[in-house]
Amino acid sequence: MSANASRLQAIQNISNRKPVAVEKPDPLGNIWAEDVFNLARMEWALSKTAFKAMKKTVQTGGPLDPATADVVAAAMKEWAVSKGAKFFSHIFYPMTNITAEKHDGFIITNPDGGAITEFSGSLLIKGEPDGSSFPNGSLRMTNAARGYTAWDPTSPAFIMHTDNGATLMIPSVFMSWTGEALDKKIPLLRSNAAMDLAAQKVLRLMGETEIATLNSSCGAEQEYFLVDTHFANSRPDLLLAGRTLFGASPAKGQEFDDHYFGAIPARVQVFMQDYEDQLYKLGIPAKTHHNEVAPGQFEIAPYFEAANVAADHQQLMMTLMKSTAKKHGFMCLLHEKPFAGINGSGKHVNWSVGNSTQGNLLDPGKTPHENLLFLLFCGAVIRGVHLYGPLLRAVIASASNDHRLGANEAPPAILSVYLGDQLEKVFTDIKEGRVSQKSDGGEMDLGLAQILNFERDPGDRNRTSPFAFTGNRFEFRAVGSSQSVAGPLVAMNTMLADSLGWIAEKLEAELGKGSNQAEAVVTVLKALMNEHGNVVFGGDGYSAEWHEKAVTERGLKNIPTTADALPALREESVVKLFERAAVLSPVELESRFEVYSEQYVLSIEVEAKLVIDMAKTLIYPAAVSYLSTLASTGTNMASIGVELDQSTAKTVAAHANAMMEAVGKLSAAMEKEDFSSTEEHMQFCAKEVRGLMNEVRSHADALEAEVADELWPLPKYQEMLFIK
Ligand code: ADP
Ligand code: MG
Repeated sequence: MSANASRLQAIQNISNRKPVAVEKPDPLGNIWAEDVFNLARMEWALSKTAFKAMKKTVQTGGPLDPATADVVAAAMKEWAVSKGAKFFSHIFYPMTNITAEKHDGFIITNPDGGAITEFSGSLLIKGEPDGSSFPNGSLRMTNAARGYTAWDPTSPAFIMHTDNGATLMIPSVFMSWTGEALDKKIPLLRSNAAMDLAAQKVLRLMGETEIATLNSSCGAEQEYFLVDTHFANSRPDLLLAGRTLFGASPAKGQEFDDHYFGAIPARVQVFMQDYEDQLYKLGIPAKTHHNEVAPGQFEIAPYFEAANVAADHQQLMMTLMKSTAKKHGFMCLLHEKPFAGINGSGKHVNWSVGNSTQGNLLDPGKTPHENLLFLLFCGAVIRGVHLYGPLLRAVIASASNDHRLGANEAPPAILSVYLGDQLEKVFTDIKEGRVSQKSDGGEMDLGLAQILNFERDPGDRNRTSPFAFTGNRFEFRAVGSSQSVAGPLVAMNTMLADSLGWIAEKLEAELGKGSNQAEAVVTVLKALMNEHGNVVFGGDGYSAEWHEKAVTERGLKNIPTTADALPALREESVVKLFERAAVLSPVELESRFEVYSEQYVLSIEVEAKLVIDMAKTLIYPAAVSYLSTLASTGTNMASIGVELDQSTAKTVAAHANAMMEAVGKLSAAMEKEDFSSTEEHMQFCAKEVRGLMNEVRSHADALEAEVADELWPLPKYQEMLFIK
């Protein structure tokens, strides 16, 4: 079928689409976590001692002895087999944003030719995929290719079903033969431990005696687009790059703001319900869903969970979202900017830290004492974002997120903190020494009780801030929709650990001088705000004025592209930060820089090749075919004495020629190989290659507006964006 024929047929087919009915949905109580080997199930399946040991490991992250692992493995296998599983797989998270699996059968044969199932503690604990199949940066050069996966008991095992069977999935870490982290889970677990250690110090200094292990929490709001598969399958760019590399703006886009929170189309709602039932079975607490700003764009957010579990669940959600969408005749686009000129997709990472004894430490609470702890933790975040803004920018850097950040629809590429009016005032008062320091009944009356007794919902939201306080958590809004949340969580936990360490040291000194707690807190926070208060910004982050001021007056960095952002991972201060906190060794960090830069270059190169290919084989032929029609019509008409206006033909010819000239330049740019450094190669991609891709596109999009509709080979924006 020719390209334009497949486009026209897609338009035909889509008119006959119906929602795909699923089996009668079960009540939540029947399906919740039915496919998860969670604590409740373990309590039922394990002996009392084994369960106690397991529970302790899950709740504190402490080690598990091999004997208990054997017992757990046996119980896990029994349960999985009873649910139809014949295979198990360690599931792990390499340095790319993907999820990886290696499946093994439970089967072993006996000498009589019979088959039985077996699963020991050692199989549960350790797997051995080939480490060289995954990007590992410089680690590949220095180490053997061997890689290991190891069970992470703090994230529950679960069953994945297909139409033909089930597999037991075991969340795991992934490391090299010499023990270096090759994945996103190990640093996340380590960053949590670092944060716990530093937070414990601060809490003890503040007089807390009973302190449970602290954990970070994450609730991620996922935005995505759905496009009918009939259209998606006719677009090589959607299939291979996940975004449209060409496409003129439709007559109607999002200018009416009529999609946000509008009625969800029936087909989409049926997809969502099917998807959410699958999430419930996996113990993933899907909580909200709605239309997003752009037509064809939606959001789903689960209730927040412990960061490690939330990160695993988030990966699983992305996988399931794509497969379930397919079942419903949609392609799910997780790309940050699938359509030019239309809002892109992000993943807001809501983050807080706390434990069972002191609660959420980013919750202002109701009493002055809780306020003091809150102020310290909140101050620690402010310091972290100020000192490590470029790191936060680096962990959300990707070729695809570059399209979104700073594009006046998503947070700017300048990292600042939004606190909301009231809280900003509290911190400004502290900085300027305006807080009353009178003693009252032995305890310092900071005059803060009233100020901080604000409603949990801080009222106004600042959609333009990349990092906003939202009542009892921070929301990192600049994260990209296709990214793993692990990287941002690692950066946040680690910078917090560093700041809490700094605070503990200062607090200790102040308390040593005989200050009482409140005096000490105010002194420390005053110093903190003097050094780092510049990062607090409550205004319009999209405005040109801020872009200017942030840099010139506040000394913040505007880091527009991934090529500019990733080198932060090589900065001495960042290397030291991760090393001090024992989250990533310098070698591990360097390997990340290499993997992420390579991915950046590769994804731009793949897109550039596609641009060349599509321009040459789809768009140019359509233009030429239209020109040939115009020419023969013109000749025929001239023969009967009628003059056809030639301006369209001239415009089409001019754009077709200019497009092919740009294609020539882009092809030549792709030949270049002599880069002196990775940094230089990335800059070349960011400036030269991207620029030429845009040049090709501008002519192609102009052609789309000229060439006869019936000849146009690619489904158009207006067809793809409005779901029927
Ligand atoms: P909004 O779109 O208004 O920002 P949503 O309800 O879509 O809010 O998403 C907010 C996310 O923040 C949810 O995942 C929610 O569970 C999560 N969240 C709420 N409180 C906390 C907290 N203390 N720590 C981490 N995440 C939280
Ligand atoms: Mg939201």
